Amino acid sequence: MRYAVAGGGIAGLAAAWELTGSDPAAEVVVYEPGRLGGKIHTPDFEGRPVDAGPDAFLTRVPEAVQLCAELGLADELLAPAAGSSMVWWGQRLRPLPAGLVLGVPGKVSAIVRSGILSPLGAARAGLDLVLPRTDIAEDVSVYDLVARRFGKEVALRLVDPLVGGIHAGRADELSAAATVPQLLAAARKSRSLLLALRGTSPSGATGPIFLTPRDGLGRMVAVLVERLVERGVAFRDVAVRYVRPAPGGGVTLDGGERYDGAVVAAPAPAAAGIVEGMAPDASAGLRLVDYASVALVTMSFAASSVPAPEGVNGFLVPRSAGRLMTACSFASNKWPHWSEPGTSVVRLSAGRFRDHRALDLDDETLVDRLAGELGAALGRSLPEPTSTRVARWPAAFPQYTVGHLERVASIETSLRAASPAVALAGSSYRGSGIPACIGSGRRAARAVIAAGVPAT
Ligand SMILES: Cc1cc2nc3c(=O)[nH]c(=O)nc-3n(C[C@H](O)[C@H](O)[C@H](O)COP(=O)(O)OP(=O)(O)OC[C@H]3O[C@@H](n4cnc5c(N)ncnc54)[C@H](O)[C@@H]3O)c2cc1C
Repeated sequence: MRYAVAGGGIAGLAAAWELTGSDPAAEVVVYEPGRLGGKIHTPDFEGRPVDAGPDAFLTRVPEAVQLCAELGLADELLAPAAGSSMVWWGQRLRPLPAGLVLGVPGKVSAIVRSGILSPLGAARAGLDLVLPRTDIAEDVSVYDLVARRFGKEVALRLVDPLVGGIHAGRADELSAAATVPQLLAAARKSRSLLLALRGTSPSGATGPIFLTPRDGLGRMVAVLVERLVERGVAFRDVAVRYVRPAPGGGVTLDGGERYDGAVVAAPAPAAAGIVEGMAPDASAGLRLVDYASVALVTMSFAASSVPAPEGVNGFLVPRSAGRLMTACSFASNKWPHWSEPGTSVVRLSAGRFRDHRALDLDDETLVDRLAGELGAALGRSLPEPTSTRVARWPAAFPQYTVGHLERVASIETSLRAASPAVALAGSSYRGSGIPACIGSGRRAARAVIAAGVPAT
């Protein structure tokens, strides 16, 4: 059997891994016009491998841990050395209250003590315990779900930075069903969200929540590519333009080569073009997926000039604070192996859905503005950084807006009807974290194998 994979990000590479694992005799070609690994990129910074995009994966969604084990990388995985986070609110860095589930409080007393909410906002949050059940039949925005139970301060100051931060999105547009399904399920099941979540607090889970290879996520990609080459996978440095069902079964790529199946693991706008001719409805649906652009700036300073609070891995900046910065990672606290002793490396994020200010600035201005905001958060003026690196990620974060999952289901149905030998994978659909992308690549590979229409 011959299979094509369009897109060499982690989803496409995972699809190739599954295709060759499930069918060792399969011939697989991966088409990737850019960098293998896609959003995963670990160039050197001050002589050490320092991720310029994602820097760790969740362990509670097991696919990334599982893939690393299959690649023999289990012994290279590290957990962050610092575990607590803060919020920059009201001119001060404040500890995130304990027991939050995606920003939703487990205990009202903890959020009262944090000082992140006003007394009125904290009182409103407590009303969750006495308000009647909120009926939620359809998908709603994360903001709607949370604000109805806890009021707008919890929604804007805690949930928006946490959930919005994960997706570079806005809680008032993100789909609750797609981004916080556990909160939606709890709200549907129980009268009080607070009581419903008490039993699900992540504090009961064991082991680190995040892991990453010691040499960065690029190491996972490098080893995966090495193993794929050993399995005979071919890589072609070209973009796929279109896939069409072939007479007699299977598909053709760009009107030429014939395959028994194809996994389309390019981002939704590119996937829309690839399947347009064979499944126009699916293509139209794919074009509706919107994206946010972000910039990630890595800077290093003498450790004494950036006094990152001990044990703190970084801080979030609520959208309502109106800053350019969306988050700061005290990288030397989180990943001590990223810097020399006596040096402090920070990674500052800017840009979110409908906020292009950071992407519109040139590198120098962006660095100056973010360093200025970091100084303001720490209450001191900072010296010039010793090194800086700007990574721009245009249209990088798919926005799962309200109704996203229904739209994805209908895209998949249209595509399957056009050809079961073509399947979609990647961050645009059912989870944008690395484990979810790996899972989607592997599922798509299995679906394409199951379609099993041999080319004649
Ligand atoms: C700055 C940043 C930080 C992040 N942090 C984290 C984190 O810490 N943890 C986490 O779990 N996730 C994180 N994410 C999310 C995660 O990294 C991505 O969702 C995931 O890597 C996407 O993988 P993918 O394979 O779906 O897509 P991509 O990595 O985008 O790969 C798709 C590939 O398709 C290729 N392509 C495009 N058009 C075509 C075509 N016509 N033919 C063939 N190929 C094509 C592209 O060149 C690209 O390489 C982060 C993302 C970003 C941008």
